[in-house]
Amino acid sequence: MSRSDADGVELSVRAAEKRDAGRGVARIPERARRELGVLSGDTVVIEGERATVAKMWPADPSVPETVVQIDGDTRANAGVHVGETVTIRPKDTSTIREAERVTLSPPPSLGEDDRRLASRDVAQKLRNRPVRAGEQIRIEGVSQDPFTVVDTTPNGDVRISSATAVRLGADAGANGGAAQGDAAAASSPGTDAASPPSEGTTGPTYEDIGGLDEELEQVREMIELPLSEPELFRRLGVEPPSGVLLYGPPGTGKTLIARAVANEVDASFETISGPEIMSKYKGESEEQLREVFERARENAPTIVFFDEIDSIAGARGDDEGAENRIVGQLLTLMDGLDARGEVIVIGATNRVDAIDPALRRGGRFDREIQIGVPDEAGRREILEVHTRGMPLAEDVSVETIARRTHGFVGADLDAVASEAAMAAIRERPTDADDREEWNRDPRVTRAHFDTALASVEPSA
Ligand code: ADP
Repeated sequence: MSRSDADGVELSVRAAEKRDAGRGVARIPERARRELGVLSGDTVVIEGERATVAKMWPADPSVPETVVQIDGDTRANAGVHVGETVTIRPKDTSTIREAERVTLSPPPSLGEDDRRLASRDVAQKLRNRPVRAGEQIRIEGVSQDPFTVVDTTPNGDVRISSATAVRLGADAGANGGAAQGDAAAASSPGTDAASPPSEGTTGPTYEDIGGLDEELEQVREMIELPLSEPELFRRLGVEPPSGVLLYGPPGTGKTLIARAVANEVDASFETISGPEIMSKYKGESEEQLREVFERARENAPTIVFFDEIDSIAGARGDDEGAENRIVGQLLTLMDGLDARGEVIVIGATNRVDAIDPALRRGGRFDREIQIGVPDEAGRREILEVHTRGMPLAEDVSVETIARRTHGFVGADLDAVASEAAMAAIRERPTDADDREEWNRDPRVTRAHFDTALASVEPSA
């Protein structure tokens, strides 16, 4: 149950709704909202290992009363993971000052041109957003990756207003930790100078996965606990799982889930491609497998993602084949993972039956989770993910597109969204003035989606 102290409420963290990602909002259930005495749009403080601020929005009534939904950046800023507990307090907004100046460092992935465009856009897009130095914020429609707040005048929690000068500084990653270091130096004692600046979540987060809530829940249950609390397993004397098999058609999100889980639990990520391993000379494949596992152990906790595992692990037929040797090596390596659960192998395949039974037995890949072709509701969520940063015209209905895309998997829907954006760019006005006006306020329309749908074939 939620517990309240003098002025705070403890809630358990859940991932945000797909449409909320990057908006700096905390969805809070009605009961907690009343306890806190806040209204929709008010700023709240979220305290995990660190403290951050977000705008309060109401939660859907179907969400349990004990839960707060916040996105990956807010989780990183508060130093919490999904499933952990945070304390929410109302923020006395009279203490949130208007920012005179805010310096952001753009994500390294943002090219020069985009950076120029962004500098015009960000101030407006961040209007009324509470920020503090050291935090990361995602800016919808500018980049998928987060910006870092390097510096604010005044210090502490500030609100960006129309009067705020927003400046883009050097990028956050290209020059290593420099920008991060600045961010730490810039935060005043009043803003938790002791706590390190949040580590960038540049990989995918749970909000980037559409239509796979139950599957993701299963994967998390298998993986998060052993990786985050290996000692718990040790104390209980049980062996944490060393492998999980995800099976389903290509493009349904198997890699995405593996990357997101690694990212959310701050684990390292190693990939092995089955076909690539198979193409090596005799002996080299085993060597490469050993190296990957060695690195995984050194950088633990680690998720090793073994893509198209069926290409090595096809049922062992004639004894001396390459498959036999490689499967043997993999079995040895997986059995050799000590029971600490700090390295977990996720295998992906679209042909679960083609996998060597020895690999599917106890202690290896002994859990199988199907990642199927999405249904209409799943397609809708996936489309919400991929159109999140897009300026959609009023006539675009994600529901209608979801209905019209039977047989499309996540990768196809991603392609539909990109194709629609490309169509919009191709069909820009030719007249220079009109074009400039369009560039300032671009729109992707229903007609652009029609063009995209005509060019993308469903995989399933
Ligand atoms: P798989 O590993 O199952 O072959 P991927 O995870 O590599 O598929 O998916 C490829 C791309 O398709 C992803 O990077 C993502 O852009 C998109 N995609 C696939 N499934 C989903 C999903 N369930 N939700 C959102 N995007 C998805």
